[in-house]
Amino acid sequence: MIELPETHVLAEQIQQTLVGKTIQSAVANHHPHGFAWYFGDPAEYNEKLAGRTITGSAAYGGQPEIWAGETRVSFNDGVRARYLAAGEKRPEKHQLLLEFTDGTGLSCSVQMYGGMFAFENGSRDDWYYTVAKEKPSPYTAAFDEAYFGALLGGVKQKMSVKAFLATEQRIPGFGNGVLQDTLFNARLHPKRKLETLTGTDTETLFRSIKSTLAEMLDGGGRDTERDLFGKAGGYRTVLSGKTLMYPCPVCGSGLKREAYLGGNIYFCPACQPV
Ligand SMILES: [Zn+2]
Repeated sequence: MIELPETHVLAEQIQQTLVGKTIQSAVANHHPHGFAWYFGDPAEYNEKLAGRTITGSAAYGGQPEIWAGETRVSFNDGVRARYLAAGEKRPEKHQLLLEFTDGTGLSCSVQMYGGMFAFENGSRDDWYYTVAKEKPSPYTAAFDEAYFGALLGGVKQKMSVKAFLATEQRIPGFGNGVLQDTLFNARLHPKRKLETLTGTDTETLFRSIKSTLAEMLDGGGRDTERDLFGKAGGYRTVLSGKTLMYPCPVCGSGLKREAYLGGNIYFCPACQPV
């Protein structure tokens, strides 16, 4: 799933690779997918996008966005966006294919679910998009200890750290994926109740959000995700489906996986006691 680090990686790659290219054609919903979402009628995407030249990109929470003047193409969650070189075979199944006039292209395919929204700037009014644009990102200075403290103080303290950090779009783009290493680095179990956190725990958690996300971005995204060129990210996840069979890198205990709040949590039972 695209989360905060991957959003920034993709936006940067779009900036470097696609700016200046003109869209020759757009095909949306070519291979219908039950959980692929569009803005308006996908049959109108060609009309909306053909002839537009890519001018930039943006990263909002977990939503990378392509800019073509005032036209936007935003995508999220399980969309795999892939740059296609001139002459490269196009994927057979795609939910959005942009062909550029120089022969290159961009395909988007949806994994479990995801949206590919093409719209005119200002015309899209959905809550997920609005909060992703408006709430301070942990990658900015506006997301400071005071902001984090207010966020923490504004919720029920019976809540677990996972529920606090990775649900309700409190921190847009901070999902179940980046959660795992953030909590491992803070030595907090995902089910720990907020009311049990000491001042030191809270401070450590805040610092871990900042430093773990920074490492993920510096590495070019997590190794469980792919970039615009189909390459896995260079950040090696400590806790993910990829590492479950290995011992904890800190204490050597066996790592655990459990289903919790819509997604698997991974943890070291010794380093992260409940
Ligand atoms: Zn451990």
